[in-house]
Amino acid sequence: MTSSGLFTPPNALNSVPILGLPVHDVDMSAALDQIDRFIRTTKPHHVVTADASMFVMAQADESLHEIIAHADLITPDSAGILWAAKRYGRPLRERVSGVEIVEQLCARSASHGYRIFFLGAAPGVAEQAAEKMRAKYPGAQFAGVHHGFFTEGENETIVDRIRESHADVLCVAFGIPRQEKWISANRDRLGVPVLIGVGGTLDVLSGNVKRAPRIMQRAKLEWLWRVLKNPRKLNKVLLLPRFVHLVRRSV
Ligand code: UDP
Repeated sequence: MTSSGLFTPPNALNSVPILGLPVHDVDMSAALDQIDRFIRTTKPHHVVTADASMFVMAQADESLHEIIAHADLITPDSAGILWAAKRYGRPLRERVSGVEIVEQLCARSASHGYRIFFLGAAPGVAEQAAEKMRAKYPGAQFAGVHHGFFTEGENETIVDRIRESHADVLCVAFGIPRQEKWISANRDRLGVPVLIGVGGTLDVLSGNVKRAPRIMQRAKLEWLWRVLKNPRKLNKVLLLPRFVHLVRRSV
């Protein structure tokens, strides 16, 4: 709801099409305001934090493409997405990353009373991330935590647990595209108004993985830092040249 009591539909936000998928032109404050409106409804809303690797995967994965196309808020999470928008002559305001959204939501949890659920990462990591956030933002409320290494057979129990937690925001940290597909498959049974896929965010918030130094972030080299720290990230980085090629071809 807005202050005048009228709901602002998500499509009231401007978006820029990149490789056939929309990315909303939001800064952090506009994204948080939109999430706040979602929280004040009872319907589930899917928030996607878009990066170049996700958009390349979506070209060959129809179901992922469909899920992103129907998401309620798609924020620009990477330097690659910002570069593409500029290249199309429709620059986006700023990078609005999953890590920063989650941290800001923890800050707002204390002031606005949001109840947050962390789902994903290795056993113990979601607990550590919640503890760090509680220490940094006293009063932040966690509805629950659960790791991301569960079997298909355990899915129902986890869905029930989340529904019973009455969370306002569910942060799903399984990596792309598993988290987007899990949200899409379970969204209507979770009873949570905001569902957001956040990749490696819990590893960062728990302190187990350090973000790139600011100088590298500003030089748009965060991807290089991630590969140096975790060579398994190479697969994801190898999608970048393909992204550049696809964008150049479509301008
Ligand atoms: N993960 C998980 N369950 C799995 C596989 C991975 O919870 O079955 C977690 C993993 O521990 C990590 C996150 O998913 O915390 C993926 O992080 P990554 O940085 O690779 O995400 P992306 O680059 O796709 O955003």
